[in-house]
Formats: sequence, C-alpha cells, structure tokens
Amino acid sequence: MTFVRPAGILHPMPRPIRATISAAALAHNLLIARQHAGAAKIWAVVKANAYGHGLLRAAQALREADGFAMLDFVDALRLRQAGNTQPLLMLEGIFKSEDVALLLQHRLTPVIHNFEQIEMLAKALDSELGDGTLDIYLKVNSGMNRLGFTRDKVRLAWKALAGNPRIASITLMTHFADADGASGIAAQMRCFNEVTQPCMTPNPAPRSLANSAALLRFPEATRADWVRPGIMLYGCSPFSFKSAAQIGLRPAMTLTAEIVGVQQLQAGERVGYGITYEAAREMRIGVLACGYADGYPRHAPSGTPVLVAGQRTGTVGRVSMDLLCVDLSKIPEAGVGTSATLWGEGLPCDEVALAAGTVSYELLCALAPRVPVVEI
Ligand SMILES: *Cc1c(COP(=O)(O)O)cnc(C)c1O
Repeated sequence: MTFVRPAGILHPMPRPIRATISAAALAHNLLIARQHAGAAKIWAVVKANAYGHGLLRAAQALREADGFAMLDFVDALRLRQAGNTQPLLMLEGIFKSEDVALLLQHRLTPVIHNFEQIEMLAKALDSELGDGTLDIYLKVNSGMNRLGFTRDKVRLAWKALAGNPRIASITLMTHFADADGASGIAAQMRCFNEVTQPCMTPNPAPRSLANSAALLRFPEATRADWVRPGIMLYGCSPFSFKSAAQIGLRPAMTLTAEIVGVQQLQAGERVGYGITYEAAREMRIGVLACGYADGYPRHAPSGTPVLVAGQRTGTVGRVSMDLLCVDLSKIPEAGVGTSATLWGEGLPCDEVALAAGTVSYELLCALAPRVPVVEI
C-alpha cells in the first residue's frame, strides 16, 4: 500500500495551539534576579526541561547566568553537547557510581546529600584513572527533611569529603521549605549556621541557600555565594501575597489557542463530560483547541480565568483531552478562529494556577511536547 500525499500539502499546519516563549522575558527576569543577588553568582535552575520552556532554548536565553542547575545527567550532557561550558550543578548528585565518570568527564558539580553517595564517590574517585578533581556541594538538611545531612551528620560528611585529595572544593548548601510562607527562613538559617560552624574555619566554605522566594524576600540574609532561582526566571511569583508584575517579572511562556467551535446554549443545557456545568440562562460558549493532553489542568474548575479576544472570561464544564469550553456571553465578537490566552502575557499563570488549586510551577512543567513552540 502506498501513502499518497495530497497534492500541495507538504507541511500541514499544526492545530491552532501555541506556546510562545520569550527569550527577552527570560533575560529580563535573570536581570531582576541579578539585582537581588548583588555580588552572589547565579545558578539558573533549568530542571524539568527548564520548567517546560525547553532546556537548550532557556539556557541560550539565560546565558548570562553563572551556571545552570538541574537533576538529570541527560540534560547536563545535552548542554555540554550544545557547546555549553559553564558550571553545571547536579541538584540530586549521583544516582549510581557510574555517574562519577560523567562528573569528571563533563566537569559537573554534584550535590552530595547522603553517605551512600559519599561512598560511591570515594570508591569511584579511587579507581578512576586520571587526576581530575571535582567541585562538590554538600547538602545540609536544615529543616526541610527531604534531602541532606541532618545536623548531627554534617560534620562527619564534611570530614569524609574534605579529606579526599580529588575533591577541590566543597560548597555548603541548604534548601528552604517555607521561604514564601509564614515561617520564613529564620529557623532553618539558625540550624544551618550552627551546624556548618566547624566548616567555617580556618577558611569559610562557600555557601548556596536561596531559591526564588528566599532571594526575593530575604536577599541580604540568603544570597551568600551562589543563589538558585528557578520560577522567577520564568516570570512567575513564588508568593501568594505578591504578583509577578509587582516583582517586575515578565511571563516567559504564553499559551494560546483558537476557538474551533461555538455553541449556543439554552437555559438548563449542560456542557462537557460528566455534564457538570449547567447554563443558568441562554449563553454562548466557545470551544478552544486546548485540553489536558496539552498540559492544561483537568482539575481546573468552571470559572478558571481565560482571556478571549483580550477580555477575561472563564472556563465552563470539564476540561477534556483536546478541548475546553469558555463562556463567550459577554464577548459577542469572538467566534471560530478567535485567539484565546490560557496563561502568560495578559493573564498571569499564577492566577490560573490559583483557580485550579495548584502552582504555576506545575502548569509550566506540564506543557505537553505536542504543543508547538514559537520562539520570540
Ligand atoms: C527547584 C530548586 C530550586 C529553584 O526553586 P524555585 O522555587 O523555582 O526558585 C532551587 N534549589 C533547589 C535545590 C531546587 O530543587
């Protein structure tokens, strides 16, 4: 059987949904981070495909950063293969002893957070040929209780690493659990300063503490030697009490889709799977070419904000795989082909996330590979 391509249709247009990624916005947001960081260096956090923005694309736009932080060795190698020569921080360190060869070969900086990693590192460094050295980070669990050495173990870990001639430098690191919340950073700072005291003589070890929230809210206390902003670089706020615009950030990703269908509803008619939405009166709805398979959250309830033809309206009914519905009752000029913004320029992702009961991080990361990206 032969496939006959219809004459003239060599490059079909993708369906009308786009993620527009702004390199200028990324660069601008990095400048805002720089203003707060003072003399500290910046790890631009590009984990999770640069929060959905595309690893290589984001790294290019954020090239003025002092280094890039991620988790996955595949990502680090992609950056190296693309010619990136900046320091790369592996936020979860090594997973297997084979990873140590990659650290040496590609000059990667691992965050060491448990004794299993210290053992793998020591063994591999002992047996690895050559005389390359590593810069490493030592992660202190100062209260998040996720990864890192607890207060009673920091000294032991430090001693085990500091004695290794193939470890050139050790940077002390911690991660804040509630830098954006009511608890802030005080208790964790106290713990961190206390347990790292022995590592500060005779020469103070370099330190890295701040995520976006800490950098923006407590810059003097937390900037230390290296900061690690993520979400702010992508133009979203880490706070519930301060918007991205108030911080001076610009959205890096704008998700738009066109209306592909219009329905006129009578009072009492229902919309979508599970018929969860019932029209209280006569209304006009638009059907957008965007669904949960594009990364739009299925759990977004009716009323989640959407911008149609520049005007705010809300979703109606359940989000389905490829489509979602919006209220057009007050936007008579909108019809098939009208563009709508799901988040980004004109509609902060933080607001959509709040309505959907999540955070902008999750929406950005979930952008599906099937959504065509336009770079501006
Ligand atoms: C993700 C991450 C960051 C960045 O956090 P944001 O809230 O996005 O600024 C910083 N440090 C570590 C260890 C992380 O895992």
